[in-house]
Amino acid sequence: MTLVQNGYLLLDNALLLGMAAWLGACVGSFSNVLIYRLPRNKDVVRGRSHCPSCEKMVAWYDNIPVLSWVLLRGQCRHCEASISPRYLVVELAGAFCALVGIWRFGWTVEGLSASFFLIVLLDIALIDWEHMIIPHTLTIGGAAVGLGFSFFMTPSLPAALLGAAVGAGIILAVSYGYKLVRGVIGMGGGDVMLMGMVGIFLGAWGALAVLFGGALLGTIYALTVGRGNVEGEAKLPFGTFLAAAAAIVLLFGRQIMDLYLTQF
Ligand SMILES: [Zn+2]
Repeated sequence: MTLVQNGYLLLDNALLLGMAAWLGACVGSFSNVLIYRLPRNKDVVRGRSHCPSCEKMVAWYDNIPVLSWVLLRGQCRHCEASISPRYLVVELAGAFCALVGIWRFGWTVEGLSASFFLIVLLDIALIDWEHMIIPHTLTIGGAAVGLGFSFFMTPSLPAALLGAAVGAGIILAVSYGYKLVRGVIGMGGGDVMLMGMVGIFLGAWGALAVLFGGALLGTIYALTVGRGNVEGEAKLPFGTFLAAAAAIVLLFGRQIMDLYLTQF
């Protein structure tokens, strides 16, 4: 996809990309609601947003993705309590996910699917990092949408179902084995559901690559940044690393595989 052709800016392309970015920012805005409310078991559909400091409702014109945060300079209109820049970052990340999906796969079902998958992975990564929870709403909801996409793209429905079985099955087996050996449950049901969803979007080989990549990222984290605060039996937010690995495999899996095959 080109933005500039023969020196002319292709305005229709720029307009379409702008609209996609805006849609992504709106999904990012809804992601903020999910990220805040799902781990706290709050209703994500009903209940308007309100300022946590002064409890005043957030008016629609103060709830416009990106623009409102910038115009209000990150403060509540009423009590001037500061609003976390994370809200802005997640909205921008939503726009980024939409553009990355289109950049990588073009204006196709694959591009739409990739954009959706990326934003769900981002939500899961942030929630698991903060709360050590992977809400079933996101994994089962994401899996259902992924199965819908599988009617129109690869992995096809049978391949997606096989991917889900492989992804979830391996986590279940590892978790069960860990329980036999150590007497404690190593990974939760959230990881099982997450890998089931990952398998639907990336297929069986993709799910295997994500498991390997997630374990690798988690190990690197534990040995470097997490040293000292991740002592012994302390838990890692494994879902965050799996989500990061899934994004990498989605976008660069083919290139990484090619590089590997030419090297060895
Ligand atoms: Zn306020």
